[in-house]
Amino acid sequence: MLPDVRSTLKQFWGFDTFRPGQEEVIEHVLAGHDTLALLPTGAGKSLCYQLPTLHQGGLCLVISPLIALMLDQVDRARSIGIKAGAVMSGMTSSSIENTLEDAAQGRLSLLFLSPERIGTELFQGRLPRMPISLIAVDEAHCISQWGYDFRPAYQRISELRPVHPEAPVLALTATATARVVEDIQRLLAFRAPNVVRTSFRRPEITFWVSHGEDKLARLLKILNRTQGSSIVYVQQRRTADQLAAHLEHHGIHCAAYHAGMDRSERDRVQAEWASGTLPCVVATNAFGMGIDRSDVRSVIHWSPPNDLESYYQEAGRAGRDGKPAFAFVLCDGADPELIRERVEAGFPSLAEVRKVFQAFSNIHRIASGSGLHESYPVHLNELAGKAGIRTGTALHALKALELNGTLVLSEGVHTPSRVQIKADHATIMRSRKNDKCMGAVLEAVRSAHGGLFEGLVIVEEERLARMSAISVQEVVDRLKELHRLDLIHYRSRDDDPQVTLLVPRPDAAALYLAPEALALRKDRALKRMRAMLSYLAPDVRCREQELLAYFSEVPKEACGQCDRCVARKRKEGGSLEQDMERIRWEMDQTGT
Ligand code: ADP
Ligand code: MG
Repeated sequence: MLPDVRSTLKQFWGFDTFRPGQEEVIEHVLAGHDTLALLPTGAGKSLCYQLPTLHQGGLCLVISPLIALMLDQVDRARSIGIKAGAVMSGMTSSSIENTLEDAAQGRLSLLFLSPERIGTELFQGRLPRMPISLIAVDEAHCISQWGYDFRPAYQRISELRPVHPEAPVLALTATATARVVEDIQRLLAFRAPNVVRTSFRRPEITFWVSHGEDKLARLLKILNRTQGSSIVYVQQRRTADQLAAHLEHHGIHCAAYHAGMDRSERDRVQAEWASGTLPCVVATNAFGMGIDRSDVRSVIHWSPPNDLESYYQEAGRAGRDGKPAFAFVLCDGADPELIRERVEAGFPSLAEVRKVFQAFSNIHRIASGSGLHESYPVHLNELAGKAGIRTGTALHALKALELNGTLVLSEGVHTPSRVQIKADHATIMRSRKNDKCMGAVLEAVRSAHGGLFEGLVIVEEERLARMSAISVQEVVDRLKELHRLDLIHYRSRDDDPQVTLLVPRPDAAALYLAPEALALRKDRALKRMRAMLSYLAPDVRCREQELLAYFSEVPKEACGQCDRCVARKRKEGGSLEQDMERIRWEMDQTGT
C-alpha cells in the first residue's frame, strides 16, 4: 500500500514501518477526508500530519494548545529538515509578521499556532494567501466542553474552513470519550464522520486499587518490591516534598518534583531520572512532559486524581517498553470526599472571580480600559494571597475568566529557552574572533539548529555548554550579553504562567460570567468525577474493562490480573492455582 508514502517515511524519519493507525490516517488525509485520529500517547500522531504535507506539498496549519508543545514540535520537525515555524505570545510582532509572511509565500511546510491566534488581524490578513493543504488540530479534545481540558478558542477553528474549503481537517487526540468524539467532528465541521482509532489497551499494565488507611506502609511495600523505576503521583507540592523526605528516611532513594521548585533543581532531578541514577520520583502532575523513560515499572497514585482521563494518562507512563508494569492507586476512607472538595473548589463563585481579577489588576497596575493583548506573568501564591483565597481557587478563577473570553492563561511549566539569531554570518564570525566564548556560544546555537533562523528556536543551555565546552552559567551569561548587544533575541526559560488580556481591562465589579455556562461546566466536571469515584468503589468489574469502556472502547475478556479480577477468581476458586504465585506477589505489594 502506498509505496511512495513509505519512501517519504524512510527519507525524512529513517523508519521502515508505520506504527498502528498511522498509515490508515495518512491514507484518509491524502484522499482529502476529514479525519479524527484517536491514537494513544506516544503512538506517533505528529507524523500523521507531517508526512502527508511533505508528500503532497503545501502548508499544514497546526493548531496546538501549549507553547511548550509547539516549540518542541518545531524543533523536532526542523531537525529532520522540515521547514517549520510557529507564532506564539512572547514573540515580537515583527517576527510574528515575518513568520506569517513566510507561510503565505510558501516558504514553510508547517505553521504552528495557538487557537487564540486565529482571530488576530495579522493572521486573518494573510490566511487567504496561505497555500494550505491540511489543517491539523492537535490535542483536539480541547474543543469539547465535555473534555477535561476545554479551551474555548478551539471552537473558532472551524472559521478557517470556508477560507480554505479544499483543505481537509485532521484532528488528533489521545483521550476522547464518545461525547468528545462527537463534539470534535461536529465543531470542526467534518464533511463526513470519520474516526481512525487503535486500541487503548495496555495489557502490560496491571491496574490495582489498594484500599486502606496506612498509605505510607503500603507505598513502602510496593516500592521495596517492585524492580526498576517508579513514579509516585501526589496532588500537592507540599505532599511531594514531605513524602519524598519520608521515603528517603525509609531508605528509598527518591526526589520530589513539582512546579514550585527552582528550575535548576528540577532540571537536576529530571537529568538524574533520565540517566537512570534516580529510581523514584515523587511528583505532581507537572512531571510528565518530556520525561519519557520507557522502563517505568510502577506508577503509584498516593491519592486518586479527579478524573479517569488524567488517571489513565499518568498511569500509562508505566510499561512503555511493553514489559509487565503496575499502576496502583492508594485510596483511604477520606479520599472520595477530598476529590469532591477539590472538584467543588474548581468552581469559584462570581465574587471570588472578581476578587482575583481585582488583585491581578492591582499587582500589575493595569488601568481600567487598558492592557488589551498585553501579557503578564502570574505568581499564583501572591495572587491568591492578595485576593484572600486559596491558591487552587485562584487558578480556577483565572480559568473561568479564560472560558469567559476575558483572558488567556498560558502554562508556565517547561516553557524552554528560545533564541533567534539576528546578526548575519559576518558579524558572527567577527564576534567569534573578538570573544572566544561568545563566538563559541553563537556557533553552537547556529550549528544546533542547522542554520535555520526564521524564528525563535528552542535552545538547551546544557547542550550549548557541552558543545562550546564552557559551563552552563557562562553560556547563560553570554546569551544575555548577546541579547543586550542585539545580536540575538534570547528568552530564558519561563516558569510562571502568563495571563494575556483579550479585552481592555474591565472593572472587576462589572465582570459578568454567565451563570448557566458556569453551571454547565460544573455539571460536566461532576460527571467526570463520578466516573473516577466509581473506579474507586467496591465492584467486581475488571478494571481494564471499566477504563476502556469509559473511553468508549468495547473491551473483550476481563484482564484477569487487576485486583478485582484476582478477588473474583479467588471467590470462584477457579484458576487460582496457576495464578497463586502472582497473586501472592501482588497481595504483598498492597498489604491486603
Ligand atoms: P503522540 O503525539 O502520538 O504522543 P509523537 O508524535 O510525539 O506521539 O511521537 C512519539 C515518538 O514516536 C516520536 O519520538 C516519534 O519519532 C516516534 N515515531 C513516530 N512514528 C514512528 C514510526 N513509524 N516508527 C518509529 N517511531 C515512530
Ligand atoms: Mg502529540
